[in-house]
Amino acid sequence: MTEMILPDIYRMEIPLPHNPLKSLNSYLIKGSERNLLIDTGFNQPECRAAMDAGRQELGFSMDETDIFVTHIHGDHTGLVHYLSRPGTRVLCDSYTAQAFGGLVSDYWDYFDQLLVQGGLAGITHADHPGYKYKGAAVDNVQVIADGDLIEVGRYRWRWISTPGHAPDHMCLYEARLGILFSGDHILGDITPNNTLWDPPWTATRDLLQEYFDSLDKIERLAIKITLPAHREIIPDCYLRIRQLREHHRRRLQDILDILGDGRMYGAQVASQMKWDMRGKRWDEFSSAQKIFAGGEALSHLTHLVLKGILVRELIGDRVYYSRAH
Ligand SMILES: [Zn+2]
Ligand SMILES: [Zn+2]
Repeated sequence: MTEMILPDIYRMEIPLPHNPLKSLNSYLIKGSERNLLIDTGFNQPECRAAMDAGRQELGFSMDETDIFVTHIHGDHTGLVHYLSRPGTRVLCDSYTAQAFGGLVSDYWDYFDQLLVQGGLAGITHADHPGYKYKGAAVDNVQVIADGDLIEVGRYRWRWISTPGHAPDHMCLYEARLGILFSGDHILGDITPNNTLWDPPWTATRDLLQEYFDSLDKIERLAIKITLPAHREIIPDCYLRIRQLREHHRRRLQDILDILGDGRMYGAQVASQMKWDMRGKRWDEFSSAQKIFAGGEALSHLTHLVLKGILVRELIGDRVYYSRAH
């Protein structure tokens, strides 16, 4: 299903089967010489079929199209190898570029260490949809940086680095018209997952703080229309930014309340947090749901550790958290 959003800007809805995200918005900006395709869907037959149908409906060829992926997650990068042609430029941040080149070979090893240290026993990266439906390596990658510009047809876009939801993440902004492609940095009726990726015992990057900083950065721009990578167009970006900030502040307070004077590991904290899983109890969550909930708890716990509010201890192979004295 395709839809024209603005002159020369189209949305293709790419289904994500059995995934609570439901679908991905892949956008096409038609250019005079080359088009720009933004995000692709998982490496799954349903995504490929929807992308092929969308390409036919909109009448564009990948021989005349470059691809920009907003961040490393499999629902955005999964079909890049399938869509790439010899002349296609794949534009992405430096972190995602390493993954395309196969250089982040320890990426999923780190993730397994995170699961063990977080106390999610018995779950491995093989349960992660981003691993199950990842794409293959590509060699035509061009790294983009904060502030880089690209002209596509009538539009002049600027890339804005917005890490937090992933170790790096890029939004695309048209200043004259106030158009923002927000990727997964800002979503409308669902909250972007903020998850730790490094092993929690040695994590030194505060991705939640980086996420807050990236929200501040977008808030300073003049934005009229926000086009997210999932679900509907966001009518008021500034209201949504305030809601997302408030959501994470509440989460941080909930975690402090759950911990009290006690000492807990990540999965214990996650099992007591409030999740929108249609009334399911923690022990009824799927492995993927536990991964996302556990990762979110760990990013918040790590934020509190790096702010000096909590301390972490390695006991056995798990990391425990308690109040700093
Ligand atoms: Zn994502
Ligand atoms: Zn996504």
